[in-house]
Amino acid sequence: MDNKFPGKDITDSDLKDKFPLSSSINKKKIIKIDNNISFGGDVVPIISGPNGIENKDLIFKCCEVLEKNNLKLLRGQIYKPLTFPYRSKKYYEVGDEGLKILEEVRKNFDVIIVSEVMESEKLELMKDVVDVFQIGARNMQNFPLISKTAKLNKPIILKRHFGCSIRDLLGSSEYALIEKNEKVILCERGISAPHTHKSTSRFMLDIQAIPAIKEYSCLPIISDPSHACFWHEWVEPLTLASLAAGAEGLMIEFHPDPRNAAVDPLQALNFDEFTTLVKKLRLIGSSLNKKIL
Ligand code: PEP
Ligand code: MN
Repeated sequence: MDNKFPGKDITDSDLKDKFPLSSSINKKKIIKIDNNISFGGDVVPIISGPNGIENKDLIFKCCEVLEKNNLKLLRGQIYKPLTFPYRSKKYYEVGDEGLKILEEVRKNFDVIIVSEVMESEKLELMKDVVDVFQIGARNMQNFPLISKTAKLNKPIILKRHFGCSIRDLLGSSEYALIEKNEKVILCERGISAPHTHKSTSRFMLDIQAIPAIKEYSCLPIISDPSHACFWHEWVEPLTLASLAAGAEGLMIEFHPDPRNAAVDPLQALNFDEFTTLVKKLRLIGSSLNKKIL
């Protein structure tokens, strides 16, 4: 029919009718976070920090690492989507307690806080301490959650579910844009394939999705290699590859004692590994005319 791209799952009419707001028929969006940091332009922001906030001491240490690396975007979940419901002393989320810790972080550090919202009932509590809301892979098609989060008019990072197409992701982003919140950032975090390289690799970073999303959408696309490969040894090469492939932001997990992290202990970098990676990103960034912030 009117498919200019035979064999592709996004048709020419999809761009106009299914995702009129997120498609590339619109002017490329630059999403401003503060006076220096924006997504979708010449700047490639790094969002980094631990998987979960865990406790005040840990997150303060992570903020110091951010400061030393001249970075501002801190990631850290207080609510965690865990694949299994059994939480132990070691494997936990900080929950509502984390709201107070984030308040303290704000008082002590000049950081911008990125954190995941899992249920809309928590939005009211979170909105004063969270600057950028993350909607995780598992909630990518939780349309009421996307709509309610969008109504707060703060930037949203929408992660692609590991089994969803780019077409599905753009459909989901439309639920935020239709609420007149234009600040939607898409995130590639790995797809699930029938076979993986080894049992610790749950997902595979879909590098090709980065240029593809830039072709089909006006929204910025960032990459989260940590969640994709689930293996700290591979985070550096995949992060560098993401930048080279045109990622407009990077999400990287680090932790003071990665192998003892409360959640996802295999994927976080330690402080030194993270600092080395930031240096390498800045080197590659300068040759691509991209400022790594
Ligand atoms: C996270 O960023 O902590 C997370 C749970 O990510 P994802 O939704 O991609 O699994
Ligand atoms: Mn995780």
